[in-house]
Amino acid sequence: MAIYELDPVDRIEVAAVGDPGQRRFFLLATGSGRSLTLGCEKSQVQALILRLHQMLETQQIEAQEVERTAASGSPEPGDPEWQIGEMGLGYHEARRMFVLVASQAAVGESTEATEAVDAPSVRFWLSHDQVLAFSKQAESVLSAGRKLCPRCGLPMDASGHPCPVMNGARPIF
Ligand SMILES: [Zn+2]
Repeated sequence: MAIYELDPVDRIEVAAVGDPGQRRFFLLATGSGRSLTLGCEKSQVQALILRLHQMLETQQIEAQEVERTAASGSPEPGDPEWQIGEMGLGYHEARRMFVLVASQAAVGESTEATEAVDAPSVRFWLSHDQVLAFSKQAESVLSAGRKLCPRCGLPMDASGHPCPVMNGARPIF
């Protein structure tokens, strides 16, 4: 399995294109002389933000006022290199860096016998500040036009959301 390292990441952000409710989401990153555009689902971004919050809490990293990198007029993302199937987040104690791992989704069933072992993964190495800024940036993209949860401040869907404050145990209506 091919693993690419963006170590360190110079820039990482979430972008959304399209009309509300039908937006396509992208993870854009540059680092190590590479630029990557990956496709992802909104639910993946939501899950990632929750995970980021949990890990920041675990690491006792204060959400100090991060300078808002205004949507810096980034160009519209082009076609993604591939669609993210899974994302994971880890913390490297020795380096005090977060590691976000994105793996390619299994290629559609129509494709004949694509070797799953060829599915590439990317490891994004992120500093504390980058994670803070990234989670804020991703939230602002997600929440465009949506209400924020009064409990945790994350954007809510009409059907509620798995609230970290409520431990995700109960749906919120
Ligand atoms: Zn909430």
